[in-house]
Amino acid sequence: MAQDGKINPFEMAKEQVDIAAQHLNLDPGSIEKLKSTKRELIVHFPIEMDNKKVKIFTGYRVQHNVARGPAKGGIRYHPDVDLDEVRALAMWMTWKSAVVNIPFGGAKGGVECNPKEMSLHEIEHLTRRFTWEISLMLGPEQDIPAPDVYTNPQVMAWIMDTFSILKGYSVPGVVTGKPIELGGSLGRFEATGRGVVITSLEALKHLNMVTEKAKIVIQGCGNVGGVAAMHFDRMGAKVIAISDSQKGLYNENGLDVKRVLNNKAKHRCLVCEPKEETEITNQELLELKCDILIPAAMESQITKKNASRIKAKVIAEGANGPTTPEADDILNDKGVFIVPDILANAGGVTVSYFEWVQNLQELIWSEEEVLDRLTRIMQKGFKEVLGISLSQKIPMRTAALVLGIGRVAEASRLRGLYP
Ligand code: NAD
Repeated sequence: MAQDGKINPFEMAKEQVDIAAQHLNLDPGSIEKLKSTKRELIVHFPIEMDNKKVKIFTGYRVQHNVARGPAKGGIRYHPDVDLDEVRALAMWMTWKSAVVNIPFGGAKGGVECNPKEMSLHEIEHLTRRFTWEISLMLGPEQDIPAPDVYTNPQVMAWIMDTFSILKGYSVPGVVTGKPIELGGSLGRFEATGRGVVITSLEALKHLNMVTEKAKIVIQGCGNVGGVAAMHFDRMGAKVIAISDSQKGLYNENGLDVKRVLNNKAKHRCLVCEPKEETEITNQELLELKCDILIPAAMESQITKKNASRIKAKVIAEGANGPTTPEADDILNDKGVFIVPDILANAGGVTVSYFEWVQNLQELIWSEEEVLDRLTRIMQKGFKEVLGISLSQKIPMRTAALVLGIGRVAEASRLRGLYP
């Protein structure tokens, strides 16, 4: 815990390693290595803003572990980005790739900025200069960024263009989540949200619950939350609440998801139509009675302060690190079934891997092929994690960490120490 009471996500991520290590019989040296990041770059760089004033921004790129393949992980633009957040997110990327058995290591990047207060022109300048600053770490065989909070396919296009200009030839494989026209994969934009839905359905099946009767609550309506809402709606489940950073909307009989998301896209904020729905806060949303709660926004949303009031039967973590270890204990005692982040939101890295494979081989797969492969990988990941959870009688999160960390530890052991 940080001094101001804010939960430090890196401390939280390291605590998770200690919990999993108890089940893995790892030696203390290996545990220390798994808890350490491999490379960290902090950059301070100037951008000329639209008002002609120069502003200095701070950005980070962290590679956590590359034992199983090139470093992979998104880039986030948010005012709260800091080194420990990026370190934690990089570590979770390592475990996530390993849980779904994708041959990538883990990385993450971020810039402390508020893109909501910046013009497109300023965001482009910031992206290009940040890419230049961290370019020594990037490359299709080294480190491959992707979108995260408040970054999108256009930002990925600028990263690819800037890196390609530096190299003198086009390098589509340096980044995933690109627009289709630049070598992006069909199905990538929707992949994380779809993965959350696929693993949620597996959880419902395991618990003998019926999809069509399920009531869903989603925090965040961006790439992950918005896409998950659309898919649940299409399948006949009821999305009863959704939120953005400002507010939530609630209708116990089910929201008109299409209208809500169209309004969000048009007005860049959620619009409450009082005849159709009630406005609620993000805190109220998390505590609603529902079958599946999907945190799909930021870290540390479910903490020891609100965990005892959570009424969901299943939590499928679209966001990275939304639940603190103390909250985990409370939820496990209450019998809430958790599909942990490193499994639930692994659809993004899975289709990012497909995109990278297509780029390197100059292939284009159909959307059907992508979705088919995604579904199989997510279902297999769920089955493997559930199997460990049931056989070892440990919570789903610990089981996912045991699977992911175990694979990384074994890869490290086989590679050995150099020199
Ligand atoms: P996004 O920028 O598309 O959407 C973020 C959403 O969260 C927006 O609706 C925003 O309004 C909302 N939000 C921001 N701050 C909030 C707050 N304090 N309270 C409530 N809502 C808030 O981002 P995204 O790509 O959907 O990412 C969401 C989460 O999913 C993050 O934790 C990210 O790391 C994780 N994730 C994303 C991907 C991906 O492929 N995009 C993959 C794996 C995990």
